[in-house]
Amino acid sequence: MQNLEKITPLFWEHKSLIEMNDDEWEALCDGCGKCCFHKHIEGRGKRERLYFTRIACNQLDLATGLCSHYTERFKLEPDCTKLTKKNLPDFKWLPHTCAYRLLYEGKPLFDWHPLISKDQNSVKKANVLIKNPIHEKDVIDWFEFVIDEV
Ligand code: SF4
Repeated sequence: MQNLEKITPLFWEHKSLIEMNDDEWEALCDGCGKCCFHKHIEGRGKRERLYFTRIACNQLDLATGLCSHYTERFKLEPDCTKLTKKNLPDFKWLPHTCAYRLLYEGKPLFDWHPLISKDQNSVKKANVLIKNPIHEKDVIDWFEFVIDEV
């Protein structure tokens, strides 16, 4: 939960990712949940290929796109990784709409981002959520669930 008093107005336009405080960093997440879907990387170097899927982590609430056990997520899902200022450069697999990736690449946020729209539902309305999600526990052959870039 963010402390709104610690969030500077329009901080994402005036501060670098490194300069943001913890509350501002947390507020950057638009809640799309796309980082909680399984990806698969094949090959190395120039031959490396990233596959996105519509297979969600079992902890993801498919209706809201939010983690249903946020505070215990690392205990429940040992593969879950925390996005931090230090490891952001390693997260090349983040979706192109992700606020962290956009700012890291020097791009502006989309106008449907809740920080701009002031509407938590604007992400859903903008149609950027992954369609027809399915939980990992319900999948046998993951290759059937590969989707285009998100
Ligand atoms: S992809 Fe980015 S914006 Fe979307 S939930 Fe994950 S961290 Fe937040």
